[in-house]
Amino acid sequence: MTRNHYMEKLVPVYRSATEEELKLCNGNWKYGAFFTTVLTESKRFLPYAMRKFKANGGLVYPKHIDTISDLKQDYDVIINCSGLGAKHIFSDYKVVPIRGQVFKVKAPWIKMAFYGDLDTYIIPGFESVTLGGCRQYESYSMEVSKYDSQAIHERCCKMLPSLKDAEIVTEAVGLRPHRDVVRVEKEFITTTSGKAIRVVHNYGHGGYGVTTAPGTAKHAVKLVREILSTNSKL
Ligand SMILES: Cc1cc2nc3c(=O)[nH]c(=O)nc-3n(C[C@H](O)[C@H](O)[C@H](O)COP(=O)(O)OP(=O)(O)OC[C@H]3O[C@@H](n4cnc5c(N)ncnc54)[C@H](O)[C@@H]3O)c2cc1C
Repeated sequence: MTRNHYMEKLVPVYRSATEEELKLCNGNWKYGAFFTTVLTESKRFLPYAMRKFKANGGLVYPKHIDTISDLKQDYDVIINCSGLGAKHIFSDYKVVPIRGQVFKVKAPWIKMAFYGDLDTYIIPGFESVTLGGCRQYESYSMEVSKYDSQAIHERCCKMLPSLKDAEIVTEAVGLRPHRDVVRVEKEFITTTSGKAIRVVHNYGHGGYGVTTAPGTAKHAVKLVREILSTNSKL
């Protein structure tokens, strides 16, 4: 496919809402957006990616590490994808959490994604619809907050009143691993015990890690290849 072909496909089409869409969005909106798009459902994608990694010869050793010196074995290169963990492992204090909270509800009649004011979003998935959200900078709380729950539910139902009837499946909290800017680069480190370690960092994607990972991962692989091919030291 040529570049132009892609561009043709990607140009957004602005139009008035149809009668059917207006019926769905009868929540007295001032402004906002609704659209259909590609969705990566991490719950399904991550097991698939892990199967693929193992099928290609990848080995997995689950282990918590506090510092890079905890890795006793010698590796040609270490790829650091530790998200928020990089704050402590690599003493990178630019890494901060942006806390988010969501509902998962049963609402199979919702076929499009909706974005409104105050970080309000409604995203249909395979088994449920996600209602969000919030962005709380530097909050580490993993508890579901009843105040956030109330505000999120209220805002989503105001946007799409039919959600009042949706059965709540679960509520969840997550910490987005934010860094200004995302760090994808090489670093050559000498540990306190004098060991030289070659690292390729790939972390800090904040609220966009699922979307941007294919690109940053590709760049990280390029950096790994550079290290391995030149045997370079910074
Ligand atoms: C509410 C919410 C909504 C989101 N919405 C979107 C969205 O719409 N689109 C989008 O693209 N992204 C979204 N994201 C962001 C996305 O989830 C993250 O950007 C993505 O998970 C980052 O992936 P990662 O692999 O870099 O980090 P993580 O997923 O955080 O993975 C880091 C891994 O490192 C491990 N680790 C950390 N420290 C250590 C240690 N000391 N020792 C051993 N292991 C360690 C962790 O256990 C974990 O497995 C959302 C996130 C949240 C919370």
